[in-house]
Amino acid sequence: MTIGVLALQGDFDAHRRRLEELGAKVVLIKKPEQLDAIDGLVIPGGESGTFLKLLGEEGFEKLKQFVRLKPTFGTCAGAILLATEVENPKQAGLGAIDIRIRRNAYGRQLDSSIREGQLLQSSLNADPGSPLEMVFIRAPKIEQLGAQVEVIATEGKDKLPVAVRQGSAMAATFHPELSEDTRIHQAFLDLCRT
Ligand code: GLN
Repeated sequence: MTIGVLALQGDFDAHRRRLEELGAKVVLIKKPEQLDAIDGLVIPGGESGTFLKLLGEEGFEKLKQFVRLKPTFGTCAGAILLATEVENPKQAGLGAIDIRIRRNAYGRQLDSSIREGQLLQSSLNADPGSPLEMVFIRAPKIEQLGAQVEVIATEGKDKLPVAVRQGSAMAATFHPELSEDTRIHQAFLDLCRT
């Protein structure tokens, strides 16, 4: 099984290391045609507007087809790219996960933080809910969830959804590649194997 990490910009290398640690074969994806040779894809954090520019229309269309066919995991900017609806400002989404997501939703003060959230029991995690360290960097907020979307992790007393799954697509508004905990990446690899 070969997992691609989109390597146009952003923190793709931390994902590569984590996935390799978990035993996956990883390739860095720099050209749309490389998507044909992988079994799953991670879209890292970075700046989602910049991703759109770098992808161009052709890359965006190719990626849109990919996310319909094969497992994809987006973190932060990657989660924004996977959404159906993006706010602040409005921009195109790949539509793989039926969520409305707001970019840079925590404001300047809370720009970046490490918080303890909950990894829920879900289709990707048989264990009872348990704490999970979450690194947020200029994070977006998931404002609305479609009926097909499953919440796999929450944060805060309001239990805001911060990681979700729809079919073979997964998204997290935080950066699991920057914490020691490997469970989120393991869940994605399990999804790639099903
Ligand atoms: N603020 C970025 C965006 O809107 C996401 C930040 C990140 O990926 N760490 O695309």
